[in-house]
Amino acid sequence: MPMDTQVPGKIRSVNPASGEVLGEIDCASESEVLAAVQRGRMAQPQWAEVGLRRRISILREFQTKLHGRKSEIAAAITREAGKPLAEALVTEVSVVLDAARFLIEHAWGLLRDQPVPHGNLATKLKRGRLVREPHGVIGIISPWNYPFSIPATETLAALVAGNAVLLKPSELTPVVALELASLLYASGVPKNVFQVVIGGGPTGAALTRSAIDKLVFTGSVGTGKRIAAAAAERLLPVVLELGGKDPMLVLEDADVDVASSAAVWGAFVNAGQACLSVERCYAHRSLYEPFVKACAEKADRLRVNDGMAANTDVGPMIDERQVRIVEAHVEEAKSHGARVLVGGTRLPALGVNFYAPTVLADVTHEMRIMREETFGPVLPIMAFDDEQEVVRLANDSVYGLAASIWTRDRKRGERIAGRIQAGTVMVNDVISCFGISEAPHGGLKASGIGCTHGPFGLDEMVRKKYLDVDLTPGIKKVWWHGYGESFRRQMEGFLDWQFGRGLGERVRGALRAAGVVRRKRL
Ligand code: NDP
Repeated sequence: MPMDTQVPGKIRSVNPASGEVLGEIDCASESEVLAAVQRGRMAQPQWAEVGLRRRISILREFQTKLHGRKSEIAAAITREAGKPLAEALVTEVSVVLDAARFLIEHAWGLLRDQPVPHGNLATKLKRGRLVREPHGVIGIISPWNYPFSIPATETLAALVAGNAVLLKPSELTPVVALELASLLYASGVPKNVFQVVIGGGPTGAALTRSAIDKLVFTGSVGTGKRIAAAAAERLLPVVLELGGKDPMLVLEDADVDVASSAAVWGAFVNAGQACLSVERCYAHRSLYEPFVKACAEKADRLRVNDGMAANTDVGPMIDERQVRIVEAHVEEAKSHGARVLVGGTRLPALGVNFYAPTVLADVTHEMRIMREETFGPVLPIMAFDDEQEVVRLANDSVYGLAASIWTRDRKRGERIAGRIQAGTVMVNDVISCFGISEAPHGGLKASGIGCTHGPFGLDEMVRKKYLDVDLTPGIKKVWWHGYGESFRRQMEGFLDWQFGRGLGERVRGALRAAGVVRRKRL
């Protein structure tokens, strides 16, 4: 958003399709961020004490309220982030409803204490268990591209685990974050248990420096690295969900019609502004030409318009700065010999933020379009000759978020998936892994650290405390002070009893160790 149109200390939310100002919201200063953290800290113990059963019932209430307001929330998302209404329903509202379903069904089982049985004979007279405790106050910093589903899925997991949450949404999408807050408050979440701090990068940086207990960040690699450096200063635990350059591998036995539709949806959903979008595509040379042709024809049929219009397939990009990145990548690819089959231009008649769905052929890994995150409506396609080559190309990236493999041979798809460096590999689908609430979401390499969603995402929201109870409080442990030659021999015997190879060695070891219980200890 151009800062010169901003009122100092205010964040202006703008509809990217029309330029209409949707709201002007006060920006939180550093001292306001610190005060909000303090309020969260005061409120959190009581929230933890209300118990999991009550928190799950609040989640159920949230789900009911969100379902009741689904169209209204989708419209708010479309107005502020630009994506078509149908996409706002499918990729945002529905993802959050299902994440709530997952937590309602599974939080009880996943958060309860877990026995830790001991295998070592020396510790058999103890009972261990794992206790999951909330971290305290969790900071969530989220991007503009999925302004509802990203912060909401993370928030629900943090809240159900008993944490207080401070959300710093992108300055481009504050209104949607406030809608999330209103749904949570209406469902019974206390005001200080979930707070939204509105502002730009400096507000996020202030949150990172504050006394939060954990930070869940979703955004670009550059900001992620700055956050990781700041967090390292005070060993603040972080989850980093960063960018991607997800490859799509179309093998020689793939169905060209299905795979080309997938490539087009995967590349142009949310105008390509999805961390999991198809950012680069590799098609086997035997089907390269028909595949490229099908992609170009389908991309050409996409209806680009304001996301509020009923038949829109692709909406605007979030802002002009993002359009300029796409333009630079496409121009650089063209100057190095890429063929533009469709698109390749802005659509000024629709508005400053519109860019035509673009299909590029004959791209190479020397081009930025195949190496850097474009985050826009571009589908670059390259031919490959064999499996070895396509695996090498897919892994030739600093990123490792997700990948997809298209083949009729499921076994081969799974085998190749094992060779791909990515947090998620889908065989015969793209992106929908984000909507599978049971599945973890997270990347390798520059795509991040840790994960969100599913059991592992919930696990990020709790500290693991190991609780050990000794069952013989009146007996001194055999390994305590008062050592001597006989103790050393008894211990050798004990190790032979536990780890010796043959039965004879183990029995002899047990006999040598037996005297240890009568040993005098300090
Ligand atoms: P940014 O990194 O620019 O911003 C992300 C968030 O961080 C925003 O709320 C931003 O605030 C805030 N921020 C900016 N500077 C700082 C700072 N110094 N300290 C703390 N917070 C700061 O990313 P975008 O919003 O442009 O989002 C797009 C990126 O997010 C893409 O790279 C995409 O791949 C990635 N992404 C990753 C996902 C994943 O799950 N792996 C999912 C979705 C997106 P503000 O916007 O107000 O400047």
